[in-house]
Amino acid sequence: MRTETEQTIYLKDYAPTPYRVDKVDLDVTIAPETSRVRALLTLSPRPGTEPGTPLVLDGDELKLKSIAIDGSPLALTAYETTATTLTIFEPPNRQFVLDTEVALEPERNVRLMGFYRSGGTWCTQCEPEGFRRITYYLDRPDVLAPFRVTMTADKSIAPVLLANGNLIEAGDIEGGQHYAIWDDPFPKPSYLFAMVGGDLGSIHDTFTTMSGRKVALGVYCTHGKEEECRFAMDSLKRSMAWDERRFGREYDLDVFNIVAVSDFNFGAMENKGLNIFNDKLVFAKPETATDDDYYSVERVIAHEYFHNWTGDRITCRDWFQLCLKEGLTVYRDQEFSSDERSRPVKRIEDVRALRATQFVEDAGPLAHAPRPDHYREINNFYTTTVYEKGAEVVRMLATLLGEAGFRKGMDLYFERHDGDATTIEAFIKVFEDANGVDLQQFQTWYLQAGTPEITVRDSYDAASQSYKLTLSQNTAPTPGQPEKHPLVVPVKFGLIGPNGSPMSWSSASGDVRGDLLVLSGESATYEFKGVPNKPVPSLFREFSAPVKVISSLTPADRLFLARHDSDPFNRWQSLQDVALTLLLEAVRGKAWSASDIDALAEALADTVASPSLDPAFKALTLTLPNESLVARTLGTDVDPDRIRATRLALLAGLTSRLEGSLEAAYRSNIVTAPYSTDTAQSAQRSLKNGALSLLVLGGSSLGSRLAREQYDAATNMTDRYAALAASVVGWTSDAEALLGNFRTMFTADPLVLDKWLGLNAIIPDAGVVKRMEAILADPSFPRNNPNRLRSLVGTFGMGNPSQFARPDGAGFRFVTSFVADVDTRNPQVAARALTAFRVWRSFEPNRRAAAEAALTTLRDAGGLSRNTADILERTLAG
Ligand SMILES: [Zn+2]
Repeated sequence: MRTETEQTIYLKDYAPTPYRVDKVDLDVTIAPETSRVRALLTLSPRPGTEPGTPLVLDGDELKLKSIAIDGSPLALTAYETTATTLTIFEPPNRQFVLDTEVALEPERNVRLMGFYRSGGTWCTQCEPEGFRRITYYLDRPDVLAPFRVTMTADKSIAPVLLANGNLIEAGDIEGGQHYAIWDDPFPKPSYLFAMVGGDLGSIHDTFTTMSGRKVALGVYCTHGKEEECRFAMDSLKRSMAWDERRFGREYDLDVFNIVAVSDFNFGAMENKGLNIFNDKLVFAKPETATDDDYYSVERVIAHEYFHNWTGDRITCRDWFQLCLKEGLTVYRDQEFSSDERSRPVKRIEDVRALRATQFVEDAGPLAHAPRPDHYREINNFYTTTVYEKGAEVVRMLATLLGEAGFRKGMDLYFERHDGDATTIEAFIKVFEDANGVDLQQFQTWYLQAGTPEITVRDSYDAASQSYKLTLSQNTAPTPGQPEKHPLVVPVKFGLIGPNGSPMSWSSASGDVRGDLLVLSGESATYEFKGVPNKPVPSLFREFSAPVKVISSLTPADRLFLARHDSDPFNRWQSLQDVALTLLLEAVRGKAWSASDIDALAEALADTVASPSLDPAFKALTLTLPNESLVARTLGTDVDPDRIRATRLALLAGLTSRLEGSLEAAYRSNIVTAPYSTDTAQSAQRSLKNGALSLLVLGGSSLGSRLAREQYDAATNMTDRYAALAASVVGWTSDAEALLGNFRTMFTADPLVLDKWLGLNAIIPDAGVVKRMEAILADPSFPRNNPNRLRSLVGTFGMGNPSQFARPDGAGFRFVTSFVADVDTRNPQVAARALTAFRVWRSFEPNRRAAAEAALTTLRDAGGLSRNTADILERTLAG
């Protein structure tokens, strides 16, 4: 176990290491029970390092077997090991080679950080601090070195030996052993190190780069799964071509390998030339993967590949800069998906996810800036703020600079910083230098936590044909940041005239740049002259900034935008806003009038019937604000049962009016052609299944009948899962039987088991906690597999608000008991599950007290990992 004292790390304390690593030579012997790692580190003092400065290397759960410098064993008095360090008291004042050997027990490594075994496969996960569990090292991102790795293993149990870089030699050794030597010429930080050994199946292909170099591509997996890797391979090739086309980035090594493993704490990892993936983000076949699963595979394959330039070639100076590689790379994968599929649909989906996760984080005790300035446990900063808000910040930069200006900045970034470990400031500077602009205020987005609220007021003067818009911004205090500064907010906009057409103006004052308003002070007014009628403003088109908007638009204005706005995002947003307003009013006690529901139903019916709109877009309009969004908008005194009942009442009111439209949409979008992942076909499925879901949740007997029929007749997982999910969420009389059938049908497939676990977790019924306890207590339940644990408990905490926040506290206690148990084995999974409590202060007093009791019981029991203790203390304090 880790025994280091609690220590907070501050950005302001950054200093380079006194020694640098010039070269790393690893000799790894993989064997069951005990593997050995011999490391030859060529080290030099940096200029300015005082002679005699101790060399302090990181280490974690290592057993040191031998240690020497330049071939001479070190005396016991010359060095010291602790649980977390190896210190050499007086290293030579010149270049020298430190030679250490350690023994590892990968089979016992259930934290899944460092070198561990997943099934029969040995693999690694080093980001952020896993390499120190493989050998003693300066385990931080600003120490870059070329690596050479010699791997040796018994050929019968590990015929495949992979590491970063290019394979330069391999062969057999007597006694059934064999070896492989991998060389990575690109200096890299240790977090990008990877190696894999095992008996794996594989598929292979090639990609010819823009300069004509041929790259060998491989995807490795357990035997028998090879055909399920084809889509991942296809996604990889499309990603490689896209990065050349869109950003001029070419791949650099001779090989690119992907390995799928079953036990993995993250989604995937961008190790140089050897990406390691959670198998759920590689395997896909129509019978077991939904359309959404296919897109996730495509997106994550692209994301990790894009890291080769934004992350590997240019990496982070320290972990405070995590957003430098993640925000930028999420932006790049979002753009890839938008180019490959429907841009408006992708944007709406991303914004929904941002609001459901990042906005919640930003409003609670775990709020932090995209670039934080201190941390206790870096593993707790792989957050939606760093990733998704980070991507929004890059998107705003692209909006402000325009596509050409943004590309100029990116080109300069690659030119200036290739091979560097760098910072957010350096990233911003390239855009300033390439475009001759000042982005110092813009940079505040990286430094400030919280979601800004933008208030909109407008006025029209018919006599002077003048239309005025006033925008003001406010960001509420967040933990540790009581004062907020105004941000630069790009507002894509248009004005719409009474007949629904875009309106022009003869002149504008204020910071208006074409179709962009820029708000940089606390408040600004924009005046448009020559406007013949009062327009309806369409603001934040494409969701041009990650903000909350408070506007004075009436429901009639919003329904007008839903029909006429040329921006699909705002059409969708307008319908959501009308529905959300109705939900909020009802939760606060104001009864609906029938005409309110009629108007929304009519607008939805018109949308669904429109011949020009994309079926996938229509499906998104049918997905009305969920319970969590209502809770979040209320912010205080939340009663999830009341919200749930109100939402079901609205869905019932809409469904009774829309049954004919929904049935027509359902029947006209049945796909009879063989399954394909193409955008048109999956769009039809999404509309059909969106209509089905609304019918079921709205209480239509037609809906539950169609769901049962579709479940039985389905030939692909998209349709089968959609029918089952609708039945479970609506908890129809068929749901229990269908769940049982699903479990039996897919007993052998762990990734489908995850779907079953997730559905069990969202059952809106008081028996759900007992049901989950029984699942976890089953001796055959794989209690160390992160995917299984997250599918059950993670989904419950985030996706079943009324049962998680039961007034009797049983839902809260279920999660905290789980956290206490899993924390002893895998602190990362435990800490992540605990973040479900980030909303606890928003509940009404009884539930709030129950949540606090569960959290304090967990705290008082003590013995928590640093990961979990950090989340717990911040959650209670915030
Ligand atoms: Zn990433």
